Amino acid sequence: MNDPIKRMEELVDILNRLGYEYYTLDNPSVSDFEYDRLMQELIQLESMYPDHILENSPTKRVGGKINESFEKIKHQIPLLSLANVFTEADIVAFDNRIRKEDIKNPTYVCELKIDGLSVSLRYEKGLLKYAATRGNGIIGENITDNVKTIKSIPLKLQEEIDIEVRGEIYVSKKTLEKLNEERRKEGLEPFKNARNLASGSIRQLDSSVTASRNLDAFIYHLPNPLDYGINTHFEALEFMKKLGFVTNPNNRLVTGIDGILNYINEKTKVRPDLPYDIDGVVIKLNNILDQMKLGSTVKYPKWATAYKFPPEEVVTKLKNIIFTVGRTGQITPNAILEPVNVMGSTISKTTLHNEDYCKDLDIRIGDYVTIIKAGDVIPRVDSVKKERRTGDEIPFQMITNCPICKEKLVKKDSNYYCVNPLCDARHIESLIHFASRQAMDIVGMGEKIIEDMYNLGFIKTIPDFYHLEKYQDELMLLEGYGLKSIQNLIKEIEESKKKSLEKLLFALGIRHVGLKTATILARKFVTIDNLMNASLTTLNDIPDIGEEISTSVYNYFQEPKNKDLIQELKELGLNMKYLGEVIDNPNIKDKSFVITGTLNIKRDELKDKIITNGGKVIDSVSKKTDYLILGENPGSKYEKAIKLNIPILNEEEILNLLNINNIERGEE
Ligand code: NAD
Repeated sequence: MNDPIKRMEELVDILNRLGYEYYTLDNPSVSDFEYDRLMQELIQLESMYPDHILENSPTKRVGGKINESFEKIKHQIPLLSLANVFTEADIVAFDNRIRKEDIKNPTYVCELKIDGLSVSLRYEKGLLKYAATRGNGIIGENITDNVKTIKSIPLKLQEEIDIEVRGEIYVSKKTLEKLNEERRKEGLEPFKNARNLASGSIRQLDSSVTASRNLDAFIYHLPNPLDYGINTHFEALEFMKKLGFVTNPNNRLVTGIDGILNYINEKTKVRPDLPYDIDGVVIKLNNILDQMKLGSTVKYPKWATAYKFPPEEVVTKLKNIIFTVGRTGQITPNAILEPVNVMGSTISKTTLHNEDYCKDLDIRIGDYVTIIKAGDVIPRVDSVKKERRTGDEIPFQMITNCPICKEKLVKKDSNYYCVNPLCDARHIESLIHFASRQAMDIVGMGEKIIEDMYNLGFIKTIPDFYHLEKYQDELMLLEGYGLKSIQNLIKEIEESKKKSLEKLLFALGIRHVGLKTATILARKFVTIDNLMNASLTTLNDIPDIGEEISTSVYNYFQEPKNKDLIQELKELGLNMKYLGEVIDNPNIKDKSFVITGTLNIKRDELKDKIITNGGKVIDSVSKKTDYLILGENPGSKYEKAIKLNIPILNEEEILNLLNINNIERGEE
């Protein structure tokens, strides 16, 4: 067996890192389920080896670090977390512990566990005085200005009283969807989930950004009920509602284990239809004097607990496995499923990645499979219900020939490829890539249209895009294509001719050339002719471009058919020049920068400026990094830079090096 003490140390390290990502950066790298699993393992070990509990164990602390940009507020009564339970047996044990304290027939209030972040609100003479985050439970961040943008939090109460209440700030599912849609359009990373969005939005330095996030709140806790002559939690909820707070309509007074379990079952069922995310049910002892009798640990009250929902998983039947061919010729097996609803969306198809994934699962057509969706992660086949097999299932068999052109497949590492350059599927995928947003960005030229145009013979090659107007009359006869939409499409195609060289280089689909490499090449060579004439040694000498990439670029431009393609595109009037600025800035040229933390300036813009000034932006800190650009709430890159003695620049310093006084302010 592994050394348990070592494992405890390891778990403390891992959980503290995950906590930092979650609470401070609002950017978790694992699901809550995974985090909770590790936390349970640590709790278990700490109960077995209490003498070895570490000072910095996350079981002893609430929340994360305080953001230094906010004024600090000391909570008059600590704002604690909740203990977690996961099974019916855990709930029974919770109820037993309460009964052991001589509390007979306890009544409980069951509430939805809203997936947001907690807030403490202080009112004086009925007016909102301040709002604070939970912070580390003792000290929170002053977020009053931002909280004032939340319409469901009253600025003035129905009575002129002094009171402190606590609740949860959250973002509705609809708002998350809408904001992510906008972000995708702008080419930004979507928010991972509603909780991170809520937390990131309330801790903005600019309240107008918070206001644009449409936050909402439910109030669920009155810390000093006896001061107001209130003896039960349920009455406290009613009282707060009368004062003008929004309490959750699902709050319910129940008795006994059955009452709790019924509530959980009911809410598990309605969870997908709720307009906001919940991650469990909170069970609170109703009587305040009983609550006081039980007291609290440093981390959570003993009179309440949170039942956490398991990650949603559903079982459905695997109807078929079909193979698709990507632009590079890579073959992917896909599961075709009996349609099933997973967390509000219907799933009928999902990727099975590759042969190894299918073999590890031992998946067979006709099997019942478990589909799992944690957070906003793409649903995946998690396991196979082998016990439900009838014997008629058909074992997974990797194909040997391309499903489209029938050419023999070639295996490289774990994947199979169709290497036939004439394969239709590869052609369609490369046309889709050419028109895609990051490439030539031909708005309206989506996958389906390209497939239709290909099958109709209108667009078989890249230059065919630029001859589409020839088919205007034919297109008009097709269902779904009106005159206006065809004209718009042709206008967009025409517009795409003006795109800068890096877009075209990326759009051509040269192996290993992503947008970043394409930009480096475009900046360096400025015109496509320069690039085409570059020797392999010149390409090899470009910093940031490995040999595999430079060889691929070189070989691409040696191929006569590719030379002909470029010539044809030139004749069609496509721009072949880099249109971005090229500034020879000795402060920046050939220097490598890593950015960490939140900046007041748009990160993408800063990156662009560094690149156009001849520098490069890389993702992780190493000995070779020239500078770390430091924003607020930096990540682990900061610690690493300090260890490696890398010079650190703040926002103002990098702007000075770039000779910029004004750059658009970002919102993150
Ligand atoms: P918690 O989320 O388990 O429970 C406590 C919180 O529940 C309260 O502080 C309050 O904000 C909230 N809450 C919602 N509805 C409530 C209600 N009706 N009544 C009372 N409280 C209510 O605890 P936590 O300390 O906020 O966070 C720990 C959890 O955060 C972990 O269990 C995990 O799920 C998640 N987490 C995830 C990661 C990750 O890497 N994915 C890292 C750290 C924490």
